[in-house]
Amino acid sequence: MAIQTEFKKKLFINGCWTEAENYTDLISPYNGEVIAKIPLAGETEVDQAVEAAYNARKTMAKMPAFKRAQILENVSKLLEERQEDAAKIIALEAAKPITTAKGEVARTIQTYKFAAEEAKRIHGETLPLDSAPGGENRVSYTTREPIGVIGAITPFNFPMNLVAHKVGPAIASGNTVVLKPASQTPLSSYFIAELFQEAGLPDGALNVVTGSGKTVGDKIVSDDRVKMITFTGSPAVGIGIRNKAGLKRVTLELGSNSAVIIDEGTDLETIVPRCVTGAFSYQGQVCISLQRIYVHEKEYDRFVEKFTEAAKQLKIGDPLDPETDVSALISKDDVKRAVNWVEEAKGNGATVVTGGETDGNSLKPTVLLNVDPSEKVSCQEVFAPVVIIYKISSIDEAINLVNDSRYGLQAGIYTENIHHALHAAEELHVGGVMINDIPTFRVDHMPYGGVKESGFGREGIKYAIEEMTELKLVVFNKK
Ligand code: NAP
Repeated sequence: MAIQTEFKKKLFINGCWTEAENYTDLISPYNGEVIAKIPLAGETEVDQAVEAAYNARKTMAKMPAFKRAQILENVSKLLEERQEDAAKIIALEAAKPITTAKGEVARTIQTYKFAAEEAKRIHGETLPLDSAPGGENRVSYTTREPIGVIGAITPFNFPMNLVAHKVGPAIASGNTVVLKPASQTPLSSYFIAELFQEAGLPDGALNVVTGSGKTVGDKIVSDDRVKMITFTGSPAVGIGIRNKAGLKRVTLELGSNSAVIIDEGTDLETIVPRCVTGAFSYQGQVCISLQRIYVHEKEYDRFVEKFTEAAKQLKIGDPLDPETDVSALISKDDVKRAVNWVEEAKGNGATVVTGGETDGNSLKPTVLLNVDPSEKVSCQEVFAPVVIIYKISSIDEAINLVNDSRYGLQAGIYTENIHHALHAAEELHVGGVMINDIPTFRVDHMPYGGVKESGFGREGIKYAIEEMTELKLVVFNKK
C-alpha cells in the first residue's frame, strides 16, 4: 500500500486517493512555511464521498463484530509502529509542542484500542413484557443497529485523537463515515485514512474530504443520505449545524471557559504544577483548558506567587523542539484576538501579573488578577495561554461563580473537606466534575461532553456508540 507521503495530498473517497480541481497551501502556524498542498473538495467530491459511504453501509452493517474489532486493533498497532511520524505531523500542522503531540498520539492508540474492545460489547437486553397485562407469552429483546452514514466534523486542536473519537466508535458499531477535518489540520486525517486502508477497512467505509467548512461542512450537513452529524468545534458553528440538521441525529462537543476551585488547607505544592499544565498545555487551546481559578482567600497570595513563578519558567519556541512548552497559536488572528481581550481587561482595571506580550506568533503565558467576570477574557472561551485567578471566601461563592457561565463542560475542585467535595459534585452544572484534579483531566473511555453551550451528547467510545446506534425492539409472540 502506498503511504501518501507526497507534498501534494489527495482526497480519500471510496478507497481511492483522488485529485481535486482546486488546491490550497497548508501553512505552518509557527513559521509560516508551506507544509503541503491540500485538495479543496467541492460539492461534487463531497457528493461522491457521501455516495461511497452510503453504498458501503450494508457491508459495514453486516460485518461481524470480531472483524470490526480486528480492523480497529490493526489501526491501533499500525499507529503504535508509526507514532513518531504521527506526532511530527501534529506538531507541524497544529504547532503542538512535540512532547504534547506524542502524548496525543499515545492517547489515540488507546482510543482505537478502546474502540476495538467496545466493538465486541454492543448488545441489547431481554424485556419481561409479561409485567403488563396482555404482555404474556412473548419473548422480547432489543438490539442496537448502526445508524448508517455519519458525517464527522472535527476541530484543529486534537487532530488525531478527536478524529479517533468519531471514526473509532463509528466503525466499531458498523457505520460508515464522511470525515471533514479542520482546514488547518488535514494531514493527521489523511495519515489515519492510510492506516485504516492498510488495516483492511472496506472501500467507502471511511472517506476524508478536506476543504472549507462552509462548502464541505454544509454539504455534509444538508445531505439526506447522512443520518448523523458528530461535531466537535466552536459553539457558533455547532449551533449553525444543529439548526440546519433537521431530523438528523446530532452530537455537539463545543467549547468552555473551564474553572477549578481551590479550597483552604489544600496542598499547593502539588496543585500548582497541575494547574499550570491545565492552563498552558497546547497554548491553552484545549476545550477543557483551565481558564478561571477560584482560590480561597487564605491560600490566594501564596497560590498567585507560586503559579506566576511556574508560568514564567515555561519555554516558548519551535513545536519540534522537545524543550518547548508553549508554541504558536493556531493563527495570527487568534493571537490578535487574545491580546485584544487581555488589553481590554487591563483597560478596565485587570492586573497582568505576567505575560500579555507576544513572541512571534506565540502569546506568552499570561496570568491576570482583578478581572471583572463580564470581561471577554473571563466569560468567553479564550482558547489561548491566558488564565485568571480570583479570590473567594467560601465554596458556595466559588460554585456560583463557576456556574455563572454560558458553558458547562468540566470543572474541578481541590479540597480536603468531603462535604465540600460532595456539595460541589452536586451543585456544579457541568458534564464532569473532577474532585482533587483540574477540569482538564480526561482519559478516553470516560463519558465526556457538556451542558449549556458546551453542547450535548457524550463521547468516550462506549457512550459515542450509544449515540451512533439505533435501538430496535423485537417482540416474539409464542402464541
Ligand atoms: P471551528 O472553527 O468551529 O471548526 C470546527 C470544524 O467545523 C472545522 O472542521 C471547520 O472547518 C468546520 N466548520 C466551519 N464552518 C462550518 C460550517 N458552516 N458547517 C460545517 N462545518 C464547519 O472550531 P476550531 O477552531 O477548529 O476548534 C476549536 C473549538 O473546538 C473550541 O471552541 C473548542 O473548545 C472546541 N472543542 C471542543 C471539544 C469538546 O470535546 N467539547 C474538543 C476540542 C475542541 P474549517 O476548519 O474548514 O473552518
